[in-house]
Amino acid sequence: STQIQLVARPTGWPTNADFRTIRVDLPELTPGQVRVANEFVSVDPYMRGRMSDAKSYSAPYALNETMTGGAVGRVIDSASDAVAVGDVVVHQFGWRDLVQGDAADFRVVPELPGVPLSAYLGVLGMTALTAYVGLLEVAGLKEGDTVFVSGAAGAVGSMVGQIARLKGAKRVIGSAGSAEKVALLTEKYGFDAAFNYKDGDIAEQLSAAAPGGIDVYFDNVGGDHLEAALDSFNDGGRAALCGAISVYNNTEAAGGPRNLANMIGRGLTLKGFIVGNYVQHFSDFSADMAGWLAAGDVVFDETVVDGIDHAVDAFLGLMRGENTGKMVVRTNV
Ligand code: NDP
Repeated sequence: STQIQLVARPTGWPTNADFRTIRVDLPELTPGQVRVANEFVSVDPYMRGRMSDAKSYSAPYALNETMTGGAVGRVIDSASDAVAVGDVVVHQFGWRDLVQGDAADFRVVPELPGVPLSAYLGVLGMTALTAYVGLLEVAGLKEGDTVFVSGAAGAVGSMVGQIARLKGAKRVIGSAGSAEKVALLTEKYGFDAAFNYKDGDIAEQLSAAAPGGIDVYFDNVGGDHLEAALDSFNDGGRAALCGAISVYNNTEAAGGPRNLANMIGRGLTLKGFIVGNYVQHFSDFSADMAGWLAAGDVVFDETVVDGIDHAVDAFLGLMRGENTGKMVVRTNV
């Protein structure tokens, strides 16, 4: 098994030198175990937080251990009655091509016609669930709301825009970091308006795109984006604080929004959340999403990097914005 381990805690941007690749001979299966050949491994922004040892909702990665995280693969050997050779399974064993362990640590999922297995890491998995619960449970989307989402061409953001429209938003606005992504938002994902945050002042671009103000802000980015949203909010506006990727590689604390006092007069609610605390909505989410995908109401993109040896490159590419939709690593066993 080829595995990628964290060997040093990065300061600022991680580099390849913070990781190493090891090859491990797997022992024979013991009763109840399965062996899985991964097909896709997930790289996610939250992993940056776990590379540091600051206090956080999830424990830091241990040094000199294999990077854990979402992955999907196929069972190639089984000593368990519950899981058969050929089954597709989702698990959290992360950055490796082959993995084995107790069958209970692997969730068997159906193979859906026309849907790649990588979908279990994105549109049928954690990132789309994040969009769903963030919008519906945390921000309390109401029919007729005007919604703004940052990071809108990414795995979470592209789902936020589409789910908002399907759940009755009046107007959906997105921001992203390139002209190609901005075009995709309006032409493919059904956003009403979109802008490139690198093109100029974010607050000005947002207010031009939302002349009637915004009611909901889904924040994937933090920083100037959050400040811009605070300026554009209508009375009673609500933000779901999902991520702050603009500051994840900072070495010093980021400045706060200078206009936080807008919360007072406009009666705003800013609420942070972690998807892990909303997993009870997974079955509602799965039913809705399966229907939307089958009807063609939700479309999705993935950016695939080949080779487990390139997991670090894929992760860094994700942090730099080289992905459209979900970033995944295809393992070539
Ligand atoms: P994405 O697919 O959105 O990929 C990350 C994107 O962030 C890049 O493509 C890039 O797009 C954008 N980005 C990078 N740097 C900046 C910057 N300085 N300013 C603005 N945008 C930037 O990742 P995910 O969909 O997986 O995650 C999106 C956010 O959601 C992250 O903040 C993540 O931490 C958070 N998250 C939170 C969860 C929770 O439970 N709270 C669960 C899952 C994700 P561009 O080209 O547009 O710059």
